[in-house]
Parts: sequence; structure tokens; C-alpha cells
Amino acid sequence: MDKFVLASGNKGKLKEFSEIFSQYSVEVLPQSQFNVEEVPETGTTFVENAIIKARHAAEVTGLAAIADDSGLEVDLLEGAPGIYSARYGGENAGEKDNYIKLLNTLKPHSEGRTARFQCILVYMRHAKDPTPIIAQASWDGKIAFSATGDNGHGYDPIFIPNEHNCSAAELDSEEKNRLSHRGKAMKLLISAMKQKGMII
Ligand code: IMP
Repeated sequence: MDKFVLASGNKGKLKEFSEIFSQYSVEVLPQSQFNVEEVPETGTTFVENAIIKARHAAEVTGLAAIADDSGLEVDLLEGAPGIYSARYGGENAGEKDNYIKLLNTLKPHSEGRTARFQCILVYMRHAKDPTPIIAQASWDGKIAFSATGDNGHGYDPIFIPNEHNCSAAELDSEEKNRLSHRGKAMKLLISAMKQKGMII
């Protein structure tokens, strides 16, 4: 069975990647199993940060690696919080602190609250791979005026996807996976890897 390492400490992501890749007889191992420490995300774009994480995991483990980077872009804020989405409310901010800060920042604006989630997935065959496979997808919507819903995570309670009149936190996980940036990026990555004969 082929193996690759997932450059993330997130258990939810490990489960998601493991389930998808098990269909192709690929075993996905968490980087924690190899004592890979989190690497500083010093890039200024999602792509750079995903590559930094995948390269680091491949370097330490000697295995092929996959990494993801995602976040929310708000048009009125020139794409912020963007790559800083997880830390928008401050270094120790929780998910609620982050979205409350965003709601407060956008308070003066009743119009033009368009936004989108972005997800980048990167697959590197080895640490020096000069042509990583990169899959990118987005999910368009707008920022609500208040938080609603209990499902999902992060900014879901204040994100109204274009396809619905409710927040992403009011969708069930199946519907979110069908529409979301992550679900779509996963499909693109799988199809690129299939096309290159890396999975069958
Ligand atoms: P990560 O890189 O996937 O951990 O995501 C970075 C940050 O982007 C998260 O901490 C969330 O705040 C935000 N984010 C990414 N994807 C989503 C999503 O599907 N829903 C809500 N927030 C998200």
C-alpha cells in the first residue's frame, strides 16, 4: 500500500483525507507519528504556506506529503483575514473571537459584504519536488450581520453561501462537503493525481 504523510495536526482533516484516499489503496499518516513539528507559515499566500508545510513534512519523513491551507477572503477588506484567518482576533483568539471581530469590522457596511473561502491543497512527491500538484477551489458567499447555526467550525456561523439563504453553520456536513472550497479542492486533487497515474 502506498503511503503519504499529512502535514497537519488536525484529527478531522486526517479522517477526511484517510477516508478519501483509502479508496485508492493509499494510507495517509499524520505527521505527528513522525514527530514532525509545526513549521512557521512564513509565506504571504495560501499556496506558499501549503508548500512550506508539505515540503517540511516530506523532508523530515522522507515520504510524499500533502498539505492544505485555507481561509476567508472579504472583498471590503482587500482579502483579509486571508492567510491570517485562524489568528484574526489575536494570537490566542478562538473561532468566536475571530468572527466577532469580523462582524464588528464590517458593521459600518450594509452593502458589498461579498466574501469567499479559499482552499489550497498541495501534494509533493518529495521535499525537492519542483512541480508539486496544486489544487485550488473557492466557495463564494457573503458575510451575515449576525451569527447563526451550530454546525461546522471557524467562520461558518457568519458565512452565507450563495447557494443558500442560511449560514454555512446551518448546513449538514454532506451539503457543506458538496459545496465547500475543501470538498471541491479534494475532488480536483484526486483527479489530477489520477490523471498523472499516481493513484488508480
Ligand atoms: P486551516 O488552514 O484549514 O486550519 O484554516 C484556517 C482558518 O480558516 C480556520 O481557522 C478557519 O478560521 C478558517 N476556515 C477555513 N475553512 C473554513 C470553513 O470551511 N469554515 C469556516 N472557517 C474556515
